[in-house]
Amino acid sequence: MNWSEFGTWGRRVADWAQNYHLTVGTRPVRAKTKPGDILNALPVMPPETPEDMEQVFQDFERIVMPGITHWQHPRFFAYFNANAAAPSVLAEFLVSAIAPQCMLWQTSPAATEMETRMMDWLRQSLGLPDGFCGVIQDSASSATLAAVLTMREKALNWTGNSAGLAGNAHLRIYCSSEVHTSVDRAIWVSGIGQDNLVRVPVQGDWRGMDPAALEAAIQADIAAGLRPAGVILCVGGTSVGATDPIAACLDVAARHDLYTHVDAAWAGSAMICPEFRDYWPGIEGADSIVFNPHKWLGAQFDCSAHFLRNPDDLVRTLAISPEYLKTHGHDGVINYSEWSVPLGRRFRALKIWFLIRAYGLEGLRTRIRNHVAWSRALHDRLAATPGFEIVTPPMWSLFTFRYAPADTSDLDDLNLRLVNAINDDGRIYLTQTRVDGELAIRFQAGQFETTQQDVMMAHDVITEIADRLARDKPLT
Ligand SMILES: *Cc1c(COP(=O)(O)O)cnc(C)c1O
Repeated sequence: MNWSEFGTWGRRVADWAQNYHLTVGTRPVRAKTKPGDILNALPVMPPETPEDMEQVFQDFERIVMPGITHWQHPRFFAYFNANAAAPSVLAEFLVSAIAPQCMLWQTSPAATEMETRMMDWLRQSLGLPDGFCGVIQDSASSATLAAVLTMREKALNWTGNSAGLAGNAHLRIYCSSEVHTSVDRAIWVSGIGQDNLVRVPVQGDWRGMDPAALEAAIQADIAAGLRPAGVILCVGGTSVGATDPIAACLDVAARHDLYTHVDAAWAGSAMICPEFRDYWPGIEGADSIVFNPHKWLGAQFDCSAHFLRNPDDLVRTLAISPEYLKTHGHDGVINYSEWSVPLGRRFRALKIWFLIRAYGLEGLRTRIRNHVAWSRALHDRLAATPGFEIVTPPMWSLFTFRYAPADTSDLDDLNLRLVNAINDDGRIYLTQTRVDGELAIRFQAGQFETTQQDVMMAHDVITEIADRLARDKPLT
């Protein structure tokens, strides 16, 4: 294969991708593969001689596609969607053809300056004030790690990177019980240690952190001779959309001069709609905020927007700048590798540019508003369906429910069997979580091409399969 054949194959791939997206709704959402099926279909040894691209492509369809869970399926209601809107896929195609490295301004000036501009477009789109700037990270996990490292360095007067943590002050970081596991891993990797991640209890329908409990935890740690370093808040937690009272928690953090990071990986996209900003009043006081355009906004994975009120703290934490990386003679140039843990960086801003231009913010807002409205309509229907109960109320387009027919004792077992049966059926895909120890089934709508009919079909599938399970119930 050489570049003179690329056009032929590129057109073939483009046609294939178009057809895939137009017909993906006819496939079962979750792969029906058994463990080992794909591994065993792949030759044990690599080929010594070139193979025909035609054969490679046929094997891709024959071996790979049956083992794919279709994240672009309009009835993928599991986890959170990771969208791939058509214009962003085109941008990724171009980026993989150019394959630039974007660690320094001079290693691709267009990528750097596009990233600066796109982060500002996103800032305006979310209604964040002037003065926030940002960087595109590969994932929210990386942004959270970068923020935790910044908390560590600030709290240790910038001595952690050089002296290490042994013998240094004993740091403490605070979050609620609802944050994503990427927070735990950031604490491990930063050397701060899981035992120093303080879980503040949550309260209310939003399952948000109790600010008075945060204040008490900080004061207790100070009294015990420990050193508070930062607070991590969440807006739209993964399990049930838990959302901390941002203004009140930031006030507590400010009283103790603590660095703050807000994880809005999923729900941040909804903030392009002004009416959803009621979920994070006071956000302008945060030091660091992350959201993933690769989730609800439609950008092809990966693309994580990391906003900073003052990038100097982050750059002071992460910049190495050895001589061979120095770019002389460009005053004010940004070298984004100094804002992130990896050195090599993809040109991720191009897909944001394609995406926002192709739909306009209005087009993107309409999708998000539809998903929220349809999800709430499904919530209302399920709430009114005998045998079903709502476990947690809608947060944007996410709610949880449970099947609880009157005569059943083991609801966890019944609901696990229900979610498994639904996913084996293949028309929709859901995942489960635990709320106060009990199994609940999550529903969220966020796929770019989802229609109202797709969401309403979820009601038919859920109730039909629940009825079947109830009828098949073994006699006790
Ligand atoms: C998806 C998600 C993450 C992790 O995002 P990655 O980009 O995969 O690291 C973190 N926090 C929340 C709330 C999420 O929804």
